[in-house]
Amino acid sequence: MPVLCTMSIVEQQRQCQQCVDSVIVTMKQEALLLRLTGSCYDYKQQELDLPTLKVDPVHQVAETVEPNRPMSQISGVRKLKHANSFTGIVPRYGVETPHPQELAKYLGEIDKWGVDMFKIATYSNNKPLTAVVYTIFQDRDLMKTFKIPAPTLVTYLLHLEEHYHNDVPYHNSIHAADVTQSTHVLLSVPALENVFTDLETLAAIFASAIHDVDHPGLTNQYLVASGSELALMYNDESVLENHHLAVAFKLLQEENCDIIANLGKKQRQTFRKMVIDMVLATDMSKHMTLLADLKTMVETKKVAGSGVLLLDNYTDRIQVLQNMVHCSDLSNPTKPLELYKMWTDRIMNEFFEQGDAERRRGLDISPMCDRQTATIEKSQVGFIDYIVHPLWETWADLVYPDAQDILDTLEDNRDWFQSMIPISPSSSFCTKRGDDGEDGDEKEEETKFQFPMDDEDKGKGDSSNKDTLVIRVTDSHKDSKGSKDNRHLDKK
Ligand SMILES: [Zn+2]
Repeated sequence: MPVLCTMSIVEQQRQCQQCVDSVIVTMKQEALLLRLTGSCYDYKQQELDLPTLKVDPVHQVAETVEPNRPMSQISGVRKLKHANSFTGIVPRYGVETPHPQELAKYLGEIDKWGVDMFKIATYSNNKPLTAVVYTIFQDRDLMKTFKIPAPTLVTYLLHLEEHYHNDVPYHNSIHAADVTQSTHVLLSVPALENVFTDLETLAAIFASAIHDVDHPGLTNQYLVASGSELALMYNDESVLENHHLAVAFKLLQEENCDIIANLGKKQRQTFRKMVIDMVLATDMSKHMTLLADLKTMVETKKVAGSGVLLLDNYTDRIQVLQNMVHCSDLSNPTKPLELYKMWTDRIMNEFFEQGDAERRRGLDISPMCDRQTATIEKSQVGFIDYIVHPLWETWADLVYPDAQDILDTLEDNRDWFQSMIPISPSSSFCTKRGDDGEDGDEKEEETKFQFPMDDEDKGKGDSSNKDTLVIRVTDSHKDSKGSKDNRHLDKK
């Protein structure tokens, strides 16, 4: 019950305020210093911590309060500094821009896989999410269908976009716009023609748009390990995903922001349930369960005479929508290589920032987050081999043959990253041995790729905390994709 939890936290925060007052002055000084030195992550992470959870005396002062924001029932939700409420004529793409022609050109490709979202960000005055979602709503006639006034939609979208963090390298509104546009394309494939209702389409687009709002650039594992306010609020369970949902639904209550005001009561309830189901399914700890269910669905796939999927109950329908948004969220490696490389730079920057914070705080450095040891190319190959490819392969089976081109691009990109893995001394030694006709050494240097596993994923009978699946990608398979002999999976 997020609302009750929220009230409880607010009450705790009030009670803590007296303790906090004495350190606020020092806190403000330190926050200013952190900003001046560019340590925005450290600062952001510190905003999340409750005063009572301090364990690190070195950082104690800086980890206590949120100095510049008023208390709010949901942390992170704030009034905008400037009036973003539209009452007059809404611009063609929902945003004011000095580059309307360039924006029109790129948004003209919104129905295609692989649109350049970075260009859309540039030409939309850094409002890609507003421009993309507004355009999709227009194309799909959703404003008319659900009686959403254009100024209300734009006002909500600007509020939403403002609550994404520009200074977070990856999980910002460009990523949200990209995921939303990807979902828009996946909804339109022939195998799903007329399968989903307008309300389900609205929910999928909305869920994609909000699915990472107010993301601090830190993982759930970090938030839990550091005892953050958010982890406390959500009892360590899908911390970020619960927060994204709470912020997004709270923003609907702002003035002229309620885009679902003209839906019937039952419609609003169903919409909310579907959005919650979809966004919670973006938690990577649910990945294995989601994929297993999708595989079962593919094995028992029912198709209508016209070739479209038959989904005749809520469980099946929401399962496809959850996987669709999850696929969109994991779609970077399926995009044109130049775009994929840009996304990779961003996510690695974000991971490395977290690794730096973990080092400063004396926490274990998460796999892939240590800038001193991580190999970006290996991480991507592992990510594709064990997570992205199995998911997309199954999705492609579900909507066969509509996603074959996407799968081809993914495999080409995987081969490119494989070919770019730097040759370490040990692996070059083994390659020479291989050339001489001997087998490569199995005990080569390994790359750990981590993602969390939920209890359901681990199997029954284990009540311990979430395990981690560690994938070892050795240097010895530099030749071809899918060489399963070289894949080693260990549960830790
Ligand atoms: Zn995301």
